[in-house]
Amino acid sequence: MRNVAVIGAGMAGCVVARRLVDAGLSVHVFDKGRAAGGRMASRRAGLRRFDHGAQFMTVRGHAMRSWLDDWQRAGVIAPWEGACTADNARWVAVPGMNALAPRMLWGAELHAGTRVLALRRDRYGFALMTEAGPVADCFDAVVLTMPAPQATELLRSSDLEHAEAMRADLDRVRYEPCWSLMLAFDSRLPVEDVLRPAAGPLSWAARDSSKPQRDPSQECWVAHAGADWSTTHLESAPEDIATALTQSFLAQIPGSPSPVHQTAHRWRYARVSRALGRPCLWHPEIGLGYASDGCIGARIEDAFDSGFALADSLLGQDLASSGRRP
Ligand SMILES: Cc1cc2nc3c(=O)[nH]c(=O)nc-3n(C[C@H](O)[C@H](O)[C@H](O)COP(=O)(O)OP(=O)(O)OC[C@H]3O[C@@H](n4cnc5c(N)ncnc54)[C@H](O)[C@@H]3O)c2cc1C
Repeated sequence: MRNVAVIGAGMAGCVVARRLVDAGLSVHVFDKGRAAGGRMASRRAGLRRFDHGAQFMTVRGHAMRSWLDDWQRAGVIAPWEGACTADNARWVAVPGMNALAPRMLWGAELHAGTRVLALRRDRYGFALMTEAGPVADCFDAVVLTMPAPQATELLRSSDLEHAEAMRADLDRVRYEPCWSLMLAFDSRLPVEDVLRPAAGPLSWAARDSSKPQRDPSQECWVAHAGADWSTTHLESAPEDIATALTQSFLAQIPGSPSPVHQTAHRWRYARVSRALGRPCLWHPEIGLGYASDGCIGARIEDAFDSGFALADSLLGQDLASSGRRP
């Protein structure tokens, strides 16, 4: 196996790509987003910067722990002191949550802003159809790493053996949506860095500018609506959501000034509510795989572990078919 396409450049796709590049394979990573990172996302508004997706990482398992040390040495992650709990360090990428992906993808070829619409397979391997037309390269294997409903949609447009079995597995995965609110103020709010509202639409709010290597002179906040509220208001206009959630946020802080910036972003597939219960899916007969948080759980580390397991399967098969010993 020489040439592999990874579709999706979130944590799962980045882990797969990193391990395959390290094993000497040629890896092309395709993502419909403007940059890599997936739900580990950051957005700029002038001088302000917000992590409007995942807030932080916790690391419990051995596999991610060993990579964490390397990321720390490289200076691409740091502990978020204000949010760490006694038994759990909370790690953030610096200077924004999307900063880890480019480091992990070093050596892979990233095709950002490229939505893959369909896969085809003939005796030479996989061909990819994108919004911009067919990709010139031919791939020995393809790894899908997007949320399960998006992978199902892609497989439905692809005439592939084993796609039916993979779709049946993916149909079992469930997600909750999340409306994310980004707020900025001219002055510092007189509250702790992390708020957990007990009532109302919001389930979490944090001073984004308290994270390491953010600009502390900017008073930036990110707040998340709870899953039930986000589901009820899923199709509302972002401007209406921003207004409603801002009111709810300000109600938590009597006497707070009005924000100078407010926007809302919808995550349709934010958090996994029912995982597949298998580390990954791999069909060695055709070289088609799936890895993501949806396989294991709702955290970044689950996406990491799933990507790691997929790389094990793919590389294990590669060694077996080449007659080499693992
Ligand atoms: C609001 C929010 C808060 C969260 N908070 C936390 C937290 O504090 N801690 C934590 O551990 N986890 C948190 N999570 C969950 C965490 O972000 C995810 O578990 C993890 O990032 C998932 O990574 P992934 O690689 O599986 O998927 P993703 O990050 O979703 O990556 C999939 C990628 O596939 C791309 N893609 C999809 N379809 C196509 C296509 N057809 N062609 C090309 N590209 C495509 C997408 O653009 C995306 O970049 C949060 C998530 C959200 C949304």
